[in-house]
Amino acid sequence: MILDIITHPNDILRAENKQISSEMLKTDDFKQLILNMAETMHKRDGIGLAAPQIGKNIQICVVNTENGDLVLINPKIKKKGFGTDIEEEGCLSIPGVYGTVKRAKKISVNAIDPDGNKINFIAKGLFARVIQHEVDHLNGILFIDKVLQITKGDILK
Ligand code: ZN
Repeated sequence: MILDIITHPNDILRAENKQISSEMLKTDDFKQLILNMAETMHKRDGIGLAAPQIGKNIQICVVNTENGDLVLINPKIKKKGFGTDIEEEGCLSIPGVYGTVKRAKKISVNAIDPDGNKINFIAKGLFARVIQHEVDHLNGILFIDKVLQITKGDILK
């Protein structure tokens, strides 16, 4: 099922996102939510989607990778080293707006997967950028909060 995307400005995008419990992971509603989020991301040509963007204030995001969809639950990231780069980003919740954002080149990611297993990996480049963008959503942060320069469109305040 394709879900509606919440667009900026909206308090849901700024609210606190709750940690997901192991009980919640096992529910059919949660399993369906993961499928719906992945389907919605693909339908909207997104490379990532975080729960607040579809109106749920919980700690889950999906990322479209070359190896398929990656689901991150309760993700935490740590910067590895001092390297940063500046690239253009957009967001399904801020349609038509693009701008440059500085991000860490390399990060370490800790999360749990949909089966409740702990996962830990290093991400670099675009993959690292997308994860940082999605984890920002889970902290109520949008790319326009850190944009260096808007390259296309206008931000609605
Ligand atoms: Zn976004």
